[in-house]
Formats: sequence, C-alpha cells, structure tokens
Amino acid sequence: MDTAEKSDIRKLSREALRTFFTENGEQAFRGNQVYEWLWQKGAHSFEAMTNLSLAHRELLNTHFTINHIAVDQMQRSTDGTIKNAVRLHDGLIVESVLIPTESRTTACVSSQVGCSLDCRFCATARLKRMRNLNPDEIFDQVVVIDRQSRLYFGRPLSNIVFMGMGEPLMNYPNVVKAIRMISSEEGLGMSPKRITVSTSGVPKMIRKLADEALRCNLAVSLHSAVEETRTEIMPFNAKMPLQDLKESIVYWYDKTRSRITYEYVVWEGINDAPADIRAFLDFCKAAPCKVNLIEYNPIDDGEFRQAPEQAVQAYVRALEAAGITVTVRRSRGKDIDAACGQLANKGSGDNRA
Ligand code: SAH
Repeated sequence: MDTAEKSDIRKLSREALRTFFTENGEQAFRGNQVYEWLWQKGAHSFEAMTNLSLAHRELLNTHFTINHIAVDQMQRSTDGTIKNAVRLHDGLIVESVLIPTESRTTACVSSQVGCSLDCRFCATARLKRMRNLNPDEIFDQVVVIDRQSRLYFGRPLSNIVFMGMGEPLMNYPNVVKAIRMISSEEGLGMSPKRITVSTSGVPKMIRKLADEALRCNLAVSLHSAVEETRTEIMPFNAKMPLQDLKESIVYWYDKTRSRITYEYVVWEGINDAPADIRAFLDFCKAAPCKVNLIEYNPIDDGEFRQAPEQAVQAYVRALEAAGITVTVRRSRGKDIDAACGQLANKGSGDNRA
C-alpha cells in the first residue's frame, strides 16, 4: 500500500483501533495502547510507540499515517511571547502563540486557515478562508505550546484560548472534538475551565455549545452594542443581530452558569461616545459577565484608531459603577505581529488571499 492510500490514524476512535487489531489477529488492548500514544503522549510516529513490538508498528505503518503539524518558524518577542507559524500536513500555514505571564502560560490557538468572517479591523479576515482545521491539528498546537512552555519557562501550559486565526464556532464539530481530547482523561487531561472559546458571536452555535456541557468558558468579541455600528465593523452582524446574540448569551448562562467575557476595543470616533457606553452597559445587564478592554493593534492605514486613554477610562468607570469586573489588557507580542488581530502569516508569506 503506498502513502497516498494510507489513512490518517487520528480519525479513528478508540473502538475502531481496537477493532483494527482484532481484525488483524491481534489483541484488542493494543488499540488502547496506540490511542494513548496518540492522544495522551502526542506521538507523531509509530516508531515512538515503544511498548508495541516491531511487528505491530509495521502493521500500523502499512495501513496508516499520522498527519501532524510541524513548527515552520518560531519567533520570540522581547516580552517573552512566542509566535509559531505551523505547517499543516497539506502545506498550509496557521499561527499559534504562547503568552507567558508571572503565573500562567496561555496557548492562543487557531481553528481555521484564514477566517469565515469579515471583521474589518482584523488581519486574519483579509486572508481567504482555506479550510477548517481538523481536531488533531488543533490538539497538536496545544501539544507544541505545552512543550515550549516546559522548555522555555519550566512549567506546563496552564490555559488555552481559541483566539488565534479563524472563528471557532464556524468549525464547530472539530473544535468540540479537540476540546474533548484536550480535556478528557483519555487525552491531555487539562481542565476545561482553563479553556476559553472566543467567538465573534454566532448565536445558533453559542446555544449549541451551551447544550454540549463541555464546561469551557466563552468569550464574545462584542466591540459594539449599537446595531448599526456593529454591522459596520463586523458586517456579518447584519445576519446575526444583537438581540439574537443577547438571547443566546442568556441561554448560555442559564445552561452553564458560567460567566461570559466580553472583548471590546475602544476606537476613536467609532464606539467612544457616551451613547456607546450606555448601549454596552445595557447589553451587559442580560447575563453575568466580565469585560476585557483590549488594545487595538493597527493592521492598516489608519481607518481604525485606538481611542485615547480617557475614552477607555470612561468605559472602565461606567462598568465598575455598574458592578462589572473590567480589565484593561495591554497587547503582548506586538513586535512580532503576534497580538490579537495581527495573525496573518506575515512571516511565511503563504496562503494569502
Ligand atoms: N474569531 C474569534 C477569535 C479570533 S480573534 C473572535 O472573534 O473572538 C481574537 C480577538 O482579537 C477577538 O476579540 C477580536 O475581536 C480581536 N481582534 C481582532 N483584530 C484585532 C486588532 N486589530 N486589534 C485588537 N484586537 C483585535
């Protein structure tokens, strides 16, 4: 059997692997061993599976491949942030970022090559959406960053955010599968409470995720609670209006009891007026929440400009007065284009629109 015909072993469930061995006259528990190598230990070759005999490894080799990602380029920021350009098995590139702080290491992972949505302030939106990532491609980014965290910071990865390239809820089944493998005892065993799915706000999928009972966190990139403004900066909002989004968030809270995080950039002349603050406060009343005010990372010729500090502080004061926890986030990794909204495969020059 030549390589072209081999199938990707990580598409098989534990049960399917067990069946594969029994059909080949071997014991079923061998399937469990392989499954552990793939999903607990992140093995990228059959040779690495040292508790299998040479004959077993050869049997696997004739039938399967392990498609896996490889770090194509790694850049380190002066603030410790690491940006990886990772190459997928078909040659496409996505980016994954390691963000270290005093107490934690966060992996910022991609869910799509390019993005399905069209946020006008985001560099990734300018790439063509090429395809969704498979569960193992999301999983591998986590494994890569966990290894880097141990190597460079002497501690394991502690948190995961789906804030890299792509809209995770537009690649729903694969993102959910990846989270299950990352959080289950059969996989990496990381607590789902340390995983945050960040969405631009796809109401139907927020409801679905709430029903999934994954126990992960949800962040919504709101940026404006004024319909016309939001539609202008995030055009898909025309098809998924704020009322629908708000209802899906209420549904999320009712089902999960998990407080949502709003991500919000304050731009000059776009959402820095008192009416914008009022609309946001009103939106926040729908369900318990906290707010991250994030700094704008310019990606273009100045159409969007970060509002001055006093405008950001006006938001902070209003939110705090309403009893809402608010954090002003400074960007990390800006010098290497690793900050929010800057992921656009600049270093590699691959798969641009
Ligand atoms: N599609 C998902 C996840 C990727 S974007 C989402 O929208 O949430 C991760 C975060 O970066 C989002 O909050 C997004 O709104 C924000 N972002 C995009 N472009 C940005 C930019 N140029 N500066 C700052 N934040 C940006």
